[in-house]
Amino acid sequence: MAEILKGAPVAEAISCQLRARAEELKAGGVTPCLALLRVGERPDDLSYERAAVRRCESIGLRVVQFALEEDCAQEQIEVVIRQINEDEAIHGCLMFRPLPEHLDEAALCELLTPEKDVDGMTAGSLSTVLTGRGRGFAPCTAQACLELLDYYGCDPAGKHVAVIGRSLVIGRPVALMLQARDATVTMCHSKTRDMPAFCRQAEILVVAAGRAGVVDRQFTAPDQVIVDVGVNASPEGGICGDVCFAQVEPAVRAISPVPGGVGAVTTAVLCKHVIEAAERALAKG
Ligand code: NAP
Repeated sequence: MAEILKGAPVAEAISCQLRARAEELKAGGVTPCLALLRVGERPDDLSYERAAVRRCESIGLRVVQFALEEDCAQEQIEVVIRQINEDEAIHGCLMFRPLPEHLDEAALCELLTPEKDVDGMTAGSLSTVLTGRGRGFAPCTAQACLELLDYYGCDPAGKHVAVIGRSLVIGRPVALMLQARDATVTMCHSKTRDMPAFCRQAEILVVAAGRAGVVDRQFTAPDQVIVDVGVNASPEGGICGDVCFAQVEPAVRAISPVPGGVGAVTTAVLCKHVIEAAERALAKG
């Protein structure tokens, strides 16, 4: 039986530390504040929004919600982002993505001031992930993978890690962050030939392909730790990860479940970034 890397205790440990930092900020006259910007009413956005609001409230963060119609114009979102940029009482902003197709998502991401980009969506934040310099924040989900490994005592230093997926949201940043923590990283994607052979050699396997069942038993090795980032609609009606859990779990050392794994950690990481942004703003005066 593998160890199940549940996200809830990781999120609670992070939240515990953050409550003290939020109190300190409030004592200094600053209430850390997150802006949530949603376009339309996609069920997964709404569900993440509810979880983020709950987490913020439990830590002592203020939340300001902006909700625009699905068919809103680019200019309407630009107005909201400018308002968020200018409001000194807002320290971080999460814009739900993907945006509807008629919008220029890349341009809207870049409009957000880098100091408030707490989910690593601007080129400035990603450059911090790449260079280790600057004041950008990593995408929360990528950071959540590292928090999960750290909490369960799985140090990536010196280990061979395989990452499946190369998106800017997860695959690429998490690979760079693991490399910065001295892992040797192999990146796999949809054009990788013989992916099971690469993955079997990995001591840690991070799966972020967005395809249910992409990893089965032939990808595994007995001492392997698997972090499943995928979120897919399951045939039974709920959600499932990218890994065939029932098949893989008995064959590895540890695995994160879906739901209840990485996804449960991301809102805590989001709050951590907002508090960090508020602390920086306070220090700047
Ligand atoms: P994405 O933009 O669609 O990227 C998927 C990546 O996986 C691409 O690089 C793609 O390769 C690769 N890929 C797809 N099918 C593959 C296959 N059969 N074999 C190997 N590689 C394959 O998705 P994303 O935004 O990175 O998200 C990935 C997953 O994470 C999704 O399920 C998403 O819902 C989930 N997610 C979870 C959280 C959370 O909080 N837990 C947050 C965000 C996203 P190519 O580059 O070659 O096309």
